Amino acid sequence: MSEQLISESRNKFREILLTWFKKHKRELPWRGIDDPYRIWVSEVMLQQTQVKKVVGYYERFVKRFPDVQQLAEAPLQDVLKVWEGLGYYARARNFHKAAKIVVKDFGGVVPNEYSTFRQLPGVGDYSAAAVLSIAYNAPFAAVDGNIKRVLARLFMMETPINDGRTAKQFQQKADELLDLDEPGVFNQAMMELGATVCRPQSPTCLVCPVNVFCQAFRSTRQDEYPLRLKKEKVPEHYMVAGVIYKGNEILIVQRPLDGLLGGLWEFPNGRIAEGETAEQACIRYITEVVNLSVNNIKYLTRVRHAFTHFKIVLDVFECNYHSGEVKLNGPIDAKWVKLTSLHDFPLPRATHKFLETLIH
Ligand code: SF4
Repeated sequence: MSEQLISESRNKFREILLTWFKKHKRELPWRGIDDPYRIWVSEVMLQQTQVKKVVGYYERFVKRFPDVQQLAEAPLQDVLKVWEGLGYYARARNFHKAAKIVVKDFGGVVPNEYSTFRQLPGVGDYSAAAVLSIAYNAPFAAVDGNIKRVLARLFMMETPINDGRTAKQFQQKADELLDLDEPGVFNQAMMELGATVCRPQSPTCLVCPVNVFCQAFRSTRQDEYPLRLKKEKVPEHYMVAGVIYKGNEILIVQRPLDGLLGGLWEFPNGRIAEGETAEQACIRYITEVVNLSVNNIKYLTRVRHAFTHFKIVLDVFECNYHSGEVKLNGPIDAKWVKLTSLHDFPLPRATHKFLETLIH
């Protein structure tokens, strides 16, 4: 195809896609706004998370922290509490850090320059392109998992989408397609197409606005794309957690701020070692993690939870404080709290799964 034909075809693609988007887009609370902070909130939340889950969290978040200044001034615990249940807590911690930098170094104005914005904590190529294009109409193509899937099908790309080494190839395709007049709307249109039409399973190609441009559809091979590298089986870890009672209070501990579930509160826990019973492991962790000895240990319940790269099967025990003074090995803080105060702390989803059993 000549350069001119390619260019005409791209223009047609943009025109059709944008017309479709403007007519069919879902009404979402972060659409039709031009506040860079709120657009940024939505993009941080939408990473790895579905739109329908994000809507409520977004609304609560911007109500509690209406601007970057108020987010920067809030204690991290408050931010994590509003984020509780949304997962990938590093996003919240980094966003909070970034808000402080925006207030301190940029007078509370979200930077509109790519390299400056990209350097803020938690901002990657995708979120920099998405936020700056939507908020400032900056000419950057955003490429997330949804958009990669669309590109892979449009161009029958032989590059697996879950291989980090192929990111450049997807970015290049997206850059070529980007509408430079309306980059923010174009990026949103591509995302919307991926989320509502070019879905992972059963794409609705017959009603797809851009099906005439789609190589996979024209070859009736849309179900074969995108290609993926085979993933290894997700390992399953057997774990225990101990709820220690002292009078009418129980002990909770706070995880280190960095790493998985960083900053959240939980009960002392750990993985069961080979040859150990769950009860033995629970007593061992209570000694190792908080330096306490306990008695009257009783099995409470079992919960299962899946993280991105592993699953856990968690046996939960209740017991009574017997002796010792709390000394922490791993957690960064500990508190004796009433059961009724537990909801004031940001807790992991796995803990929420057995809270009802506890508050009987
Ligand atoms: Fe996706 Fe089908 Fe549209 Fe191609 S025609 S972009 S496979 S929905």
